[in-house]
Amino acid sequence: MTPSSTSFDQLADRILAGGAASPEEALAVLRADDDELLPLVAAAGRLRREHFGKTVKVNYLVNLKSGLCPEDCHYCSQRLGSQADILTYTWLKTDEAVEQATAGLRGGATRICMVSSGRGPTDRDIERVAGMVGALKEEHPQVEVCACLGLLKDGQAERLREAGVDAYNHNINTAESHHDEIVTSHTYADRVDTVTKAKDAGLSPCSGLIAGLGETDEQLVEALFALKALDSDSIPVNFLMPFDGTPLEGTWELSPARCLKILAMARFVCPDREIRIAGGREMHLRSLQGLALHVANSIFLGDYLTSEGQAAEADLELIRDNGFVILGAPDGALDDGPEPVLAGVASHDPVKRRRGAGTDASPNA
Ligand code: SF4
Repeated sequence: MTPSSTSFDQLADRILAGGAASPEEALAVLRADDDELLPLVAAAGRLRREHFGKTVKVNYLVNLKSGLCPEDCHYCSQRLGSQADILTYTWLKTDEAVEQATAGLRGGATRICMVSSGRGPTDRDIERVAGMVGALKEEHPQVEVCACLGLLKDGQAERLREAGVDAYNHNINTAESHHDEIVTSHTYADRVDTVTKAKDAGLSPCSGLIAGLGETDEQLVEALFALKALDSDSIPVNFLMPFDGTPLEGTWELSPARCLKILAMARFVCPDREIRIAGGREMHLRSLQGLALHVANSIFLGDYLTSEGQAAEADLELIRDNGFVILGAPDGALDDGPEPVLAGVASHDPVKRRRGAGTDASPNA
């Protein structure tokens, strides 16, 4: 396929009629000329709107246990031997976890992702998380809970399901052909096995990838088709945040346009799946975050596991300003956000300038 605005639209037409993108077409999307970025977003946006309308799923991360992981995932600030200056702490208590999750729900999230570092949970850990989920659901019966606790052993997914967990996240992260370049302490097959266990137990499988790990274009396509084959309901697309003190320190391979093309490829390959812009959104998409929302249909609110995101209010503004509403919120309401009087008219008081000319403070330049 020669990538052009017409061919992206034709591809969208074919997918909307029940067809599927081929690996060659996915590769062409990834390699689209920057001049074709807007037609590409428009074509992918047609698929997004067909399946998700103007809704955005808002997810909130609670890092239940941070750092000190024995695994060696090269991209991870919590890995064995990481020198990254991150928060490290052991398991939150149940009331602390519920308090953190409640803050996310108050801020506009409808799905809480309960995450812990480590290779995988012990049965005691599973019971601990089961207790947290029970307490959270007692206070907030409507909340959707996704657990992300690492590699699962037999029976653990069933126990989580029984405790009220709705979904389980375990990212494949990269193509099978690239996996061993980025982690050696577990295998790609281990990761697939956990996604399969979760799905078999009735948990909604959530599995995604990290772009910018030194993979080739073909390997990104390979990873996306693997996620499609795994039948992942939600696909978080992370963009590598190269923490100092990790093996991938200084790895900067992504541009905002590249990130947009990756998201568009994900939409073409998995048109009806939740495509979530995950870690690295602000850092890599930068001023293209709004355009990305016309392709993806899900974001995290606020902060990530070990790094801060933009202000939660800015996330809600991003949704509102692009004409979207929060999935699952009453009437899509954006709680606590300023209500614009007229569409397109800013409703904030102007922040008074207190720097630059006429002051002793440095100018904003
Ligand atoms: S990604 Fe998970 S398993 Fe890998 S080092 Fe980080 S916390 Fe550990």
